[in-house]
Amino acid sequence: MDAAASPARRKVLVEAPPARAAGRASSLTPAEREFARARQDFLDALPVAAAVVCLGEDDEAFVDLSNALFGALAGPNGLGDDGYRSGKVSFLGASGILPRIRSFLRGEDKICQFDATDGLPVGGRIFAVRLVRFEAVPALGRRVLVTLLDKTAQVETENSLRAEMMRDSLTGLPNRTAFNEQVEAVLEGPAFQPGSHAVLVVDITRFSRVNECVGALAGDELLITFARRLVSALRANDLLARTGGNEFAILLRLDRGLEDALQAAERIKAALSEPFRLSELEIRVDCAVGCALLSGGEILPEEVLRNAQFALKRAKGSGDVQIYEPNQARAARRRFSIETELRRAVEAGGLRLALQPIVELRSGAISGFEALARWNHGTRGPIAPTEFIAVAEESGLIVPLGRWALDEALRILGEWDAQAGRPLPIAISVNLSPIQIARDDVAEAVAASLDRFGIGGERLTLELTESAIVQDPKRAAEVLAALKMLDVRIAMDDFGTGYTSLAYLQRLPIDILKIDQSFVRGMLADGDSVAIVRAILSLANALGMETTAEGIDTPELLPALLDLGCSHGQGFHFARPMEPKAALDYWLSRNA
Ligand code: C2E
Ligand code: MG
Ligand code: MG
Repeated sequence: MDAAASPARRKVLVEAPPARAAGRASSLTPAEREFARARQDFLDALPVAAAVVCLGEDDEAFVDLSNALFGALAGPNGLGDDGYRSGKVSFLGASGILPRIRSFLRGEDKICQFDATDGLPVGGRIFAVRLVRFEAVPALGRRVLVTLLDKTAQVETENSLRAEMMRDSLTGLPNRTAFNEQVEAVLEGPAFQPGSHAVLVVDITRFSRVNECVGALAGDELLITFARRLVSALRANDLLARTGGNEFAILLRLDRGLEDALQAAERIKAALSEPFRLSELEIRVDCAVGCALLSGGEILPEEVLRNAQFALKRAKGSGDVQIYEPNQARAARRRFSIETELRRAVEAGGLRLALQPIVELRSGAISGFEALARWNHGTRGPIAPTEFIAVAEESGLIVPLGRWALDEALRILGEWDAQAGRPLPIAISVNLSPIQIARDDVAEAVAASLDRFGIGGERLTLELTESAIVQDPKRAAEVLAALKMLDVRIAMDDFGTGYTSLAYLQRLPIDILKIDQSFVRGMLADGDSVAIVRAILSLANALGMETTAEGIDTPELLPALLDLGCSHGQGFHFARPMEPKAALDYWLSRNA
């Protein structure tokens, strides 16, 4: 429309602001009137409030033209009903839009968008404002098309959705997202100092059991009552949130350092120690509390909650309030990456077996070897079996790893036999994790491996720890019985460190007791250790079992063990775990 503007119209706009003065229209020529009507039609056809605002000769903005929607909002001249430059409150002025139009008009930008409110403190409206410069006919002066889109309803919907997203629907408390936002606000706030705030995480221990016993409805009631009790134990400014199924988090400001947090934790524990009265029941629940201080070193605000959860995990074991220590997160990260890398190593054949001789103490002959898994990580170097076996057990990777170890041990034995041209009198011991007993069909795997490499079951010993039996005695008994059908021998590893009841020892088909290294190594200096070893040996004798002393790392131990009646031994004094080829050479040099 600007391209079509005539010099006559320009005159109207420039010379006679504000153009809407009464009686003004009658002094226009017919062509000018028609043109003005066309422009008005154009604005009226727009579905949003729109106006053309110009910069007058006095360098002030004025509304040249507006549509009905704009008029309804702002009055025909956009300055409220008080008229042009009345100095009173005007819509564009009060909403803060006018100054931005003014500076836009004076500047060079072609387009500008922003949100603005109408300035009313209550029930105000929110607009998306768009300014577009008209510059096709520079002679017309500086002019801008202002459109106002009322987005109040949209913003309100967004706000209520957001509020909904930040709230836990059961308890009405803020949820994890809201909590993390508050932590972020504290971390970025002006009053924050390392240690000035803490996060406590409270967890109802064994909640799933409670839920199972009392039903989900009563479980919900418990959560609500629990939340209410928590509130009663907090100070006015502490923030409580529900951050998980049965987990609550509290953001605290500390006036006297950690002591404040510990006191809050004690108050919480005390408040929760009273029984909970649900509709028809009265129950007692226990809770664990973990605590983390906000250090300011956090890269993400979520880290604080995660740190408190690390501490919580320990608190569940210990029963007291636990404070997060920074290296816990590092250890957890390492564990996580080790798990991923171990999975790859197991699949890609990245593990090896090392073999440690088991020696018949009286003759010094080698009766066999224990197969011990080894993992030489490409970049981290060798990783201790105690570390990666624990990760494998936690992740379930121990099942394929254990099958591999069994297969590999028997493969080595088969290869040695093939080299010698006859079955050698060498036995091999393979470790079996409690997780394998629980989850894998161990007997089936053993039978298949023995068969594959043509090894008699009597040459295989499976070492299991006491925990394998304690966890599920019935299953352990079935697995051991099935293994005995294959003539496999069973050794109880690390004996003395677990909690096996003597009744099981007697009932289960155990052939060998391996005495844990902690007792063996302590024997010379410590009378208690000698007494324990003596007791284990006489127990084994009474039950007709063989005995292997683990961890013989000095020659002085030998006579003492022989004296006490120990039949076999294993340890650095004889040999460290070694490569299969070196192990065979070692056996040949001692036994041939
Ligand atoms: P374990 O079955 O009790 O194995 C004996 C451990 O004692 C081995 O540690 C061995 O190297 C070490 N050792 C032997 N003699 C001495 C000595 O004189 N002094 C000292 N200080 N240590 C000695 P390693 O190889 O680090 O294995 C640790 C544990 O990891 C094993 O304890 C076993 O529980 C587990 N493990 C290793 N390989 C496997 C496997 O293939 N499957 C399963 N389930 N567990 C395995
Ligand atoms: Mg072992
Ligand atoms: Mg052992």
